[in-house]
Amino acid sequence: MQNHRRHTDAQLDSQRATCEGTRIDLAAFLALSSEARAARWRQWSAADKADVVIQQLTRLGYAWDAALVETQIAKYDAKYAIGPIDQAVEGALERLAQEHSAAARLAVASGDKAHATEERRQTTAYTNALIQYRAGVRPELLASGAWLLPSRRPGEAPHIVRMDGDWTCACCAGASMHWPIALVIGLEVAQDAMQAHDDGAPESELAAALERTNEVLERMRLRDRICAARGRYAA
Ligand SMILES: [Zn+2]
Repeated sequence: MQNHRRHTDAQLDSQRATCEGTRIDLAAFLALSSEARAARWRQWSAADKADVVIQQLTRLGYAWDAALVETQIAKYDAKYAIGPIDQAVEGALERLAQEHSAAARLAVASGDKAHATEERRQTTAYTNALIQYRAGVRPELLASGAWLLPSRRPGEAPHIVRMDGDWTCACCAGASMHWPIALVIGLEVAQDAMQAHDDGAPESELAAALERTNEVLERMRLRDRICAARGRYAA
């Protein structure tokens, strides 16, 4: 009896471990800042979204079914949808990264090694800024007018970016291009772009229509995945 019991416990532990390995960490997700939570949600696949919604519904004691999971996902999709500001900032950072990447290629072709190195540094900075922004990192405006950004590595001093004739940072990188400066420049470029296109461009309506089509397709695919997921969580 005792042996049998132990065997069952071991089996349960192994099942639990397998389950936890495939599950999104709900507590860690809820502990994120709202910006980071929205960014994380947008990066998830439909299966990941279903996973976290099912965990939450289970925790709250709901007897969930596919329809409820779909409704909840649609609710969070709307809540965490990328807003026009984030869209403009991500667009600006991506554009800047691509422009500098093209300039680096031109510099290489013309044999200007120093210029190519600088353009590559700019490309890396804008790309890293885009990665950080998408992960939910947002600069905080200080009373002095400078921007505060967290360090990417624990234990390192944060970045304080200010306009001092040119952009400079309080970290050891100083005025040389690195992602916090790139992110602040991206914000400025995005702001300018938003002001320039403040007349309700028809492209945005087209983008919204495409988005809706994708949502319907995604929801149809999701229906199958939820059935599979229910099997996984039923144990
Ligand atoms: Zn810095």
